[in-house]
Amino acid sequence: MKRVAILGGGPAGAFAAEQLAPAGLRVLLFDEKLAWEKPCGGGLTYKAYHQYPFLLDNSTRKRLVTETVLAAPRAGEVTLKLDNPLLIYSRFDLNQMLLQRAERAGAQIEKARIQEMSRCGPGWRLRTSCGIADADFCIVATGARNPLREVGTQLRPEDAMSALGYYVPGDQEKIDIQFLRGLEGYIWVFPRCGHLSVGICGKGEPAASLRKRLEHYMTEKGISWKGASFYSHLLPSLDKGSWKKNRVAGDGWMAVGDAAGLVDPITGEGLYYAIRSADLAARSLLSEAGAMLEKVEQYRRMLCHDFTADLEFGSRMAKRIFLGRFMFGSVPARIVEFTRRSPRFSAIVGDLFAGKQSYQTLKRRLLKNLNGSFYDIAMSLGFSRLVPRKAG
Ligand SMILES: Cc1cc2nc3c(=O)[nH]c(=O)nc-3n(C[C@H](O)[C@H](O)[C@H](O)COP(=O)(O)OP(=O)(O)OC[C@H]3O[C@@H](n4cnc5c(N)ncnc54)[C@H](O)[C@@H]3O)c2cc1C
Repeated sequence: MKRVAILGGGPAGAFAAEQLAPAGLRVLLFDEKLAWEKPCGGGLTYKAYHQYPFLLDNSTRKRLVTETVLAAPRAGEVTLKLDNPLLIYSRFDLNQMLLQRAERAGAQIEKARIQEMSRCGPGWRLRTSCGIADADFCIVATGARNPLREVGTQLRPEDAMSALGYYVPGDQEKIDIQFLRGLEGYIWVFPRCGHLSVGICGKGEPAASLRKRLEHYMTEKGISWKGASFYSHLLPSLDKGSWKKNRVAGDGWMAVGDAAGLVDPITGEGLYYAIRSADLAARSLLSEAGAMLEKVEQYRRMLCHDFTADLEFGSRMAKRIFLGRFMFGSVPARIVEFTRRSPRFSAIVGDLFAGKQSYQTLKRRLLKNLNGSFYDIAMSLGFSRLVPRKAG
């Protein structure tokens, strides 16, 4: 294997190119737009910049946000201090930085659309908007709207959220997260350098209805969308039954990032998984594992071990978190109330924000802390006589 073609130059494709090029392979990356303002909040968790410190240590402009306000119907709001801040980029800046790193590492970058890929002997023939290119192996990084039918995840309606919003002139120090009645999703307001990204994501609800909800929220908050640029895109959010049969790799190709459906089905975080999956794909490809099919199998195993087992677990919790009920109230309302009243619960929510708390161990940690949390909550509600001594 000498020539690797990378189809798509978002975070996943650019990072795969950066990892593969120094190994002596000829790496050719194609993107129809190169750096662009892809619809996205642009938020990177602590987990991402802790594991990939270059995301923090660089001269590209970005913001570190240390406070978030969570709000839910009938529960008001609560301010959460983020010990591990969220890092926010504009997507143009982030993409440009990642593509420049790939180029410096030796990848050849071409602005072209991949129109078709077909097998050609043991490799591939790519028809692009600029001509024909041949490759021995393909990394598919074309995002959630992957137009290449033969490769990558096959998103069904139940495997995706609509996500849309506005880039609004303005500034604020904090992030706002608003849960809404009957919505498997949420609204966010992210402060970026020079503007706010205000958006909504939701599953099982038409985009027009989500837009109405968002505009209603913006009116209530006094955020004008007149003249602001509108964005909308698809956000993979695999259903619980879809992970096992997810098409992440095959003979001669591996899919990374959104093209492989690798997004947190609860938070919508995809940037970390784009970079991480690109890293794992590059490692599998460069590994000593003998035949190509073994490398592909190795990639599948690495993904599962590293994070897809946890995301699959998360997809089983998503409906309960957004739409479930607990102690006569909605789960989002309880999350807001418990965060307000219990320092232990608040620490757990902070760790979820930072990406330090897995879904698989969440229940155990909640149960372990629950006695303490209930104690804190009962005390703050003035029920001290009912709670004679501190439990847990
Ligand atoms: C509204 C919204 C808000 C989001 N907010 C966040 C957030 O705050 N934090 C977070 O972690 N995640 C967020 N996400 C998810 C995140 O944007 C994605 O997970 C991430 O962009 C995935 O990176 P990628 O490289 O796989 O795909 P993309 O970033 O989509 O890149 C794919 C690239 O492929 C190119 N391409 C596509 N087809 C072709 C073709 N045929 N030929 C050539 N090039 C092609 C495109 O031009 C594009 O550059 C959000 C998503 C949405 C929709």
